[in-house]
Amino acid sequence: MTDWQAIVEQINAVSGRQLQPGRPQTIGGGCINQAVVLGEGDQRVFIKLNRADLLAMFEAEAAGLAEMASTQSLRVPEPLCTGVQRGQAFIAMEYIALGGRRGDAVAAGRQLAEMHRATRPRFGWDRDNTIGSTPQLNTERDDWVAFWSDQRLGFQLKLAAQNGYGGRLQQRGEHLRQGLAALLEQAPPASLLHGDLWGGNIGYTANGEPVIFDPACYYGDREADLAMTELFGGFGGAFRAAYEEAWPLSPGYSVRKQLYNLYHILNHLNLFGGGYLSQAESMIERLLAELG
Ligand code: ADP
Repeated sequence: MTDWQAIVEQINAVSGRQLQPGRPQTIGGGCINQAVVLGEGDQRVFIKLNRADLLAMFEAEAAGLAEMASTQSLRVPEPLCTGVQRGQAFIAMEYIALGGRRGDAVAAGRQLAEMHRATRPRFGWDRDNTIGSTPQLNTERDDWVAFWSDQRLGFQLKLAAQNGYGGRLQQRGEHLRQGLAALLEQAPPASLLHGDLWGGNIGYTANGEPVIFDPACYYGDREADLAMTELFGGFGGAFRAAYEEAWPLSPGYSVRKQLYNLYHILNHLNLFGGGYLSQAESMIERLLAELG
């Protein structure tokens, strides 16, 4: 049984709210966690719950939301607190009523470009986090090629080997890692990324204001975020045009897009198996063909 009393006390202490425990409302739509809403009106708080050993995942999510909020660009829910109560880890954040998948896509594109203007000298982040439920390594590096090779492709390929996907995927994947420098000739700025920007992680308020949530933040090539918006759809042409008007993409994006999305397809292979193997293999072959 969830200890709502303790969770509510912690939220009230950090946020000055006067929530009462009682009648948490369950929300659907998440992939990983149990989600509930507590409170009424503008006091409402959105809470995700999971096993106690996943506290670090919620701490990294709260840190990611705070990092994105500090750029004052695309709206994100304000993180309130994280903790463990009676064997359950939780994250509490501002509740934002999300009307649906349609809204001001132009503002979303423009504001994402603005968020990407927040840069750091090095790639990675202060902490590791998760992508889906898979660990994501963010050890800081000066070299984007080495970062992508080791901490993105290399790490997922290693997981794939542990999951029984050896042989051709490993050989061709290693070959690709050897050739990465030729696909990533120009070092990008290290931009603050959402990191898991598929269509399920953006919503719009009733006024059409865009909101992004459920991040896997790190500092990296902004094209990695853009690539993911195109992987499963849901963002549309107006979003992309507005982004490019604010900050044009460099030539060669369409090839790098494959490389950046390969990371997510390998992650899907590791999480869900099955058809993602042939998708990952054909992406690798297309990228190797670019190397000639
Ligand atoms: P999970 O980590 O389980 O994937 P999400 O963070 O994606 O969960 O949240 C699940 C759903 O809850 C989202 O699809 C969204 O519709 C809604 N949601 C997420 N964050 C908020 C929030 N702060 N306020 C209101 N609804 C939210």
